[in-house]
Amino acid sequence: MMIKKYSLLLLFCGGMQGVWGQGVSYALARYRSTILTDIHYELAFHLPAQKQTAVQGEERLLFHLAGNSLAGSAGSGGVAAPLLLDFKAPAEALYRVRVNGRSVHPVITNEHLALPAELLHAGADTVELGFTAGNPALNRNSDFLYTLLVPDRARTLFPCWDQPDLKAVFTLTLTAPAGWTVMGNAPLEDSTAMGDSCRYRFRPSDKIPTYLFSFVAGKWSSTTQTVDGRPMRLLYRETDSTKLRLSLDSIFRIEGQALHFMQEYTGIAYPFQKLDIVAVPDFQFGGMEHVGAILFKASSLFLDSGATREQFISRSNLLSHETAHMWFGDLVTMTWFNDVWMKEVFANFMADKISKITLPDGNYDLKFLVDHYPAAYSVDRTAGANPIRQELDNLQDAGSLYGNIIYNKAPIVMRQLELLVGTGAFQQGLRDYLQAHEYGNAGWPDLLQALQRYTKVDLTAWNAVWVDGTGRPVISFQTPGTHSGIDHRVVQRGEDGSRRLWPQVFSLALVYPHGIDTISVNMNARFVSIAAALRKPGLERIVPDANGYGYGIFEVHDHFTQWLLEDGMGRLGPVTRAAAYINLYENMLDGKAVTPEQLLAFDRQALTREPEELDLNQLLDQLGSIFWRFLTPAERKAAGPGLEADLWQTMLRVPAGNEKKLLFRSYGNIVLSKKGEDRLYDIWKDRHPPEGVKLSEDDYTGLAAALALRVYPGYTDILREQGERIQNSDRKARWQYLQAALSADTAVRDRFFASLQDPAARRKEAWVLTALSYLHHPLRTAYSEKYLAASLDWLQDIQHTGDVFFPQSWLAASFGYYQTAGAAKIVTDFLQRHPDYNPKLKAKILQATDNLFRARRIMK
Ligand SMILES: [Zn+2]
Repeated sequence: MMIKKYSLLLLFCGGMQGVWGQGVSYALARYRSTILTDIHYELAFHLPAQKQTAVQGEERLLFHLAGNSLAGSAGSGGVAAPLLLDFKAPAEALYRVRVNGRSVHPVITNEHLALPAELLHAGADTVELGFTAGNPALNRNSDFLYTLLVPDRARTLFPCWDQPDLKAVFTLTLTAPAGWTVMGNAPLEDSTAMGDSCRYRFRPSDKIPTYLFSFVAGKWSSTTQTVDGRPMRLLYRETDSTKLRLSLDSIFRIEGQALHFMQEYTGIAYPFQKLDIVAVPDFQFGGMEHVGAILFKASSLFLDSGATREQFISRSNLLSHETAHMWFGDLVTMTWFNDVWMKEVFANFMADKISKITLPDGNYDLKFLVDHYPAAYSVDRTAGANPIRQELDNLQDAGSLYGNIIYNKAPIVMRQLELLVGTGAFQQGLRDYLQAHEYGNAGWPDLLQALQRYTKVDLTAWNAVWVDGTGRPVISFQTPGTHSGIDHRVVQRGEDGSRRLWPQVFSLALVYPHGIDTISVNMNARFVSIAAALRKPGLERIVPDANGYGYGIFEVHDHFTQWLLEDGMGRLGPVTRAAAYINLYENMLDGKAVTPEQLLAFDRQALTREPEELDLNQLLDQLGSIFWRFLTPAERKAAGPGLEADLWQTMLRVPAGNEKKLLFRSYGNIVLSKKGEDRLYDIWKDRHPPEGVKLSEDDYTGLAAALALRVYPGYTDILREQGERIQNSDRKARWQYLQAALSADTAVRDRFFASLQDPAARRKEAWVLTALSYLHHPLRTAYSEKYLAASLDWLQDIQHTGDVFFPQSWLAASFGYYQTAGAAKIVTDFLQRHPDYNPKLKAKILQATDNLFRARRIMK
């Protein structure tokens, strides 16, 4: 363990009030886990029809206390010190406390309620509480709400022991307005109509941690299908009949396949009482794996026939990811949130395997590569890079652990580990681990131990660099010509200049006049000779990372881009091509081998002849990034017309609808010419897309926004008419919210930005992020630079009041497209003014502003 050990003695010196600060510290959590068992929450919430009216709650908390094991002077019942319940709420929110039948004056100190030792006894105890539930985790809308308690927000909703290793049974009662639908972790026991409301009682839940407790209520449509032999209910608010018709069966089918796969792979039958799903409009995550009631972002589930292959794969992955969590995370839960990455990596790891079944025609090595590598590099290349496994002293900072390293580097590392240990042995190790800890808790050391039994590889050394370390190797090639006395060999060194080793297996493509050989390189040392593989005469070129497994920056040789265009693209497979594109982009960011202008020129030509959709998407992504991040406004003006023409012509020419759509989106993203804007306007006005391109309502909404950002003549009418075209009430409300951020009137935008200082105005995080992308659109950065200082000043508050992904998404949406010295200075000044800033948040700032500082270095 890397986490500090506190002395338990502290607990008994002067009581706990002074020792325990806010949040849930690691030491407090460890202490409580030694004394508490058999926890049962009986919870009742009264949900009013008006979202302004407070939600009232009642709680009966039953538990077993191992009081007599404590040292020190015991109270009358044998318990030494007060027992802290977590409740992050204003003082007046708690109005009734009874401990074992005796009333206690309700006082909240440092987000805790102290249960007096003299009223507790070793053995069974009961605490009764009356309280006003906090709103932050209730996600209340006018006619629906859903709870989202991960990682430590259960304590804002009701008094509890908010730590993942105190699993409990929850028996929930909800009173809701008549006509609402409700869902919880457990099946419904009964319901009773009571005038204009209705009371729903749920059965006792399975044993779950507080962060997985959840309920949903409100006006929802509902449908049920039988999935892998069990009934599964779906709640949704989508009204687009085409999307529903094209999506509902697919959603249930994928769920069924995911369930089936997980049961087979783990050897453990679905471990909970029921499994239902909810499609939440503008959900702030992709999904959340609440036991028995998984929440999903609705727009990721409901696709129409215009959806790209990328979107279909993402949907399959998302459904599979959350379903895999039922075993990894829900059945076996991390002991402490420092190991939250484990449940995420295995959910992704399983999702990749499941999608091979749900979408059998995909190229999964290609998908894995384009999904995970660019995203992992986007953090690991920065000065703010974090290791996969991080320390966590207090649960209130758990949100800062999440990010691309957990979601994207960890799967890469896990795939390398599976390769190293062997597929069968790896599966056996996972099964042992799940069976040993089912319905309980375990951590990474437990899994390493389970795997070590099946391999001779030293997992401790492997773990030190890949899981506990940060950064990437630079991998280069030496030939006898360049250094005397040596053979052909592959060399690795740290990107940071260090001599660390990243043991990994990747492959090289050896290009000969009449074919390509692929060789595997076990890169387990600083120098690895490949001379033996190069004996065949006529070697033309070595293309690095042919199978896309390699992690790091691979040195590119002279004229590589020219060779790719003239010869390589036609001869290399789609995975090798995508690895080459990604690697070229990394070389550009490093200021090596290729400049932004050169890579843009390459991407432009490559996109006209790239036949594979995922490769094309990769090219278009990096093309958009180079265009907006690494060209000056003058260079954009010069490059724009040619680029627009290439994208438009290629879109007309390619046969596949999905590729047409990707090219059209990319075109709409970079359009700056009058001709291009007129074209977008005509398409929007007549709702008449180019031949073969299918556009959805969301696409037209995007077009209207793009025209407004370009201050197209009559744009206010365009925005208004788009609002009238939108029928779904949730999407209508979203569009209304976004109007101020789209306005050409800077005073309106200033007021909107200023309003974001208030946490209440930031509650709908998905909306805020879209609004920020408009405020800080690259066409507006010159004006909006003045928002950056405040965006940093508010960051700590944003972390305290927002959901886990919000601080980093806030930073990314704010700083994503700046390139000036002025913007860079705002960041450096801020960091200098705050030398003791929260290190995890500082790392997020360094991650989000990395492109800004690179732009300063690599733009001429
Ligand atoms: Zn997850």
